[in-house]
Amino acid sequence: MLPARDRLLLIHLFFFVNADDEFLIFIDRLNNIEIVARKLSTSTNFNGKKIHTQKELIEFAVEVNFPSHAIILRKSKEDFTDIHKGITDIEILKNTYEHLYSIHQSVYAETDMRAMFNPTRMKVIEKAVEKLVKKIKSTCPHCQMPGFGITDAKKGLKCSLCGSPTNSVHSYIYVCQHCRFTKEEMYPHEKTTEDPTYCDYCNP
Ligand SMILES: [Zn+2]
Ligand SMILES: [Zn+2]
Repeated sequence: MLPARDRLLLIHLFFFVNADDEFLIFIDRLNNIEIVARKLSTSTNFNGKKIHTQKELIEFAVEVNFPSHAIILRKSKEDFTDIHKGITDIEILKNTYEHLYSIHQSVYAETDMRAMFNPTRMKVIEKAVEKLVKKIKSTCPHCQMPGFGITDAKKGLKCSLCGSPTNSVHSYIYVCQHCRFTKEEMYPHEKTTEDPTYCDYCNP
């Protein structure tokens, strides 16, 4: 058994690996600008596993929210030649498994991450779209060009106890893609100092 501290670390790693990072880009040809939105979410059913029996197949299916979320079956993790995508029917899943196993004696199952087969991913994309729309609607105070959004974050919010700069965000920088007008939004998280818990000097 691993000590509690190591177990915590493993859980953290798991979520880090299984993250859904969605990028959306809006190309405004009229104004010749590109507006980008990103949504990073740990909400994902992303998974893949070598399957040896029908029992393992069913366990995997339950784990990844089949049949609302589709499954892909293929010969092995490295081999894409005999691939069956978008399976959402239990009979087809079992039959495809038996078919692959009889030919290759090996089956690899994974989640189908194509958005139309994956409602969890659709939800994250929906959030990314909301962010994109908000950014498109945000206009430059100087030239009114759309897509006026955060381009950089300045760290260094001061510790409330010793006044040293911390890694927390001090301000957001907005730059207009068209006229380069720059705005600095101070203390975006509505606090002017950081808790000493996050200070490298007070709490190393
Ligand atoms: Zn501008
Ligand atoms: Zn401090």
